[in-house]
Amino acid sequence: MAFVDPILAETEASVVMVDRRAVPGGHWNDAYPFVRLHQPAASYGVTSKPLGRNRIEASGLNAGLHELSSGVEIIKYYHDLMEEVFLASGRVTYRPLTEYVGDGEVVALLSGTSQIIEYQTLVDATLLTTAIPSTHQPNFDVGPGVTCVPPNRLPHLAAQYRRITVLGGGKTGVDALTWLLSNGYPGEALSWVVPRDAWFFNRASFEVGIDFLEATFGSLADEYEAIASASNIEDLCLEIEQSGRWLRVDHDVWPTMFHAATISQRELETLRRVGNIHREGRVQRLEVGEMVLDNATVPTATDILYVDCTASALAHNVGDRSPVFSPGRINLQMVRQFQPCFSSALIGFIEANIDDEAARGHMTAPTPMTDTVEDCLQGRINGIHNQSSWGSNKAVAQWMGRCRLDPGNVLHQIPRGDTAKMAILGRLLEAIPPALDNLPRLLANR
Ligand SMILES: Cc1cc2nc3c(=O)[nH]c(=O)nc-3n(C[C@H](O)[C@H](O)[C@H](O)COP(=O)(O)OP(=O)(O)OC[C@H]3O[C@@H](n4cnc5c(N)ncnc54)[C@H](O)[C@@H]3O)c2cc1C
Repeated sequence: MAFVDPILAETEASVVMVDRRAVPGGHWNDAYPFVRLHQPAASYGVTSKPLGRNRIEASGLNAGLHELSSGVEIIKYYHDLMEEVFLASGRVTYRPLTEYVGDGEVVALLSGTSQIIEYQTLVDATLLTTAIPSTHQPNFDVGPGVTCVPPNRLPHLAAQYRRITVLGGGKTGVDALTWLLSNGYPGEALSWVVPRDAWFFNRASFEVGIDFLEATFGSLADEYEAIASASNIEDLCLEIEQSGRWLRVDHDVWPTMFHAATISQRELETLRRVGNIHREGRVQRLEVGEMVLDNATVPTATDILYVDCTASALAHNVGDRSPVFSPGRINLQMVRQFQPCFSSALIGFIEANIDDEAARGHMTAPTPMTDTVEDCLQGRINGIHNQSSWGSNKAVAQWMGRCRLDPGNVLHQIPRGDTAKMAILGRLLEAIPPALDNLPRLLANR
């Protein structure tokens, strides 16, 4: 939808949208009821339609930061967008409950009828498809008599269990635990299976608007300065952590996972109340009275509720990709790290306005999802090159300046007399070239 939005605004094209699901909104339709964005609503969604009310949250674990939409708000947003903008345009045909099987063929899932759709350009939006707990197949066994549920069931079941074990060290596991703890579940009754600790982004570094410029772009400048000067990846991680931009749950445990989840300081403090953390590898099997992990068998109580948070979200999509643009085909991917919506919207704008194949290629080197810090640094290289090619194309730069999905457009709004904010911009511009020089050295020196 982020791609189609600029296509409607900038071209006369008609679009057929094919989706297996019954309603717009992709994975959000199957998410747990307490899911929220982990970045400000102000820069999520599509270009033409604001999401949320740009409020600063006054209470809760995200207090002091811009609002994070709930799953319900996001689904309503996409529903309204489809009904009131896409379908109302008369140029979009929406085919829900329909599977694309290849070579222009689609199959209606309920009737089984198949049809060939004529098209000029095929847009593959499945490379960013997410894996989430309620629809994935866990890769461990659950023995008879054990209750293991996706977090969707937690609000129904939590009160019935005196012990809960959350499986998975990523963002969904964090959400399940912080939801339980902030609703009064006792920390000592909680266990958490964390096969690999994660580096998290400090959410305060991912804010929007001029008032947060120092917290966001000052922190980004810190990161680039650290990349420019570090002699190895471990020192780099420590320096970025020192600056407050990256966070980890336990200072004594070295994170080996980087899935780019964000966390607030309050969430982190809440998380530290979890009674037991098991770091003996992935779950192989759950039995009544024991939990078999890769590197240990852990004796347990017999009345535990297990919560499966082991789906990989976007992390199953790690790795290099085919090009975004090829003749007759567009493979939607992230071309700015960790920003799927902005990336798809930008690709839509480029499709509508830039014909030159070489220029399109220069602007859209993929920055795939990451599993490790090394993946993140690798993606930075393409990200920096892309950013510079967008800046040197007048049409793209102007579009970005007014695109609500680009938090960076705030850099163009700095009043000239504001020397403190101009200094942040200066630091950023100064740090990027040496960071780009040092990235290959850091990656070679692992
Ligand atoms: C819990 C959670 C929180 C997130 N928070 C943020 C955030 O704060 N900020 C952010 O930028 N990103 C966030 N993300 C990531 C972001 O939401 C996703 O990257 C984005 O929504 C992906 O959209 P998508 O359409 O690519 O994938 P999905 O939402 O997974 O949708 C893909 C669709 O394609 C359909 N499909 C797949 N194959 C076929 C086929 N052959 N034929 C027909 N249909 C098919 C699927 O049924 C599905 O409906 C979050 C992800 C999760 C899981």
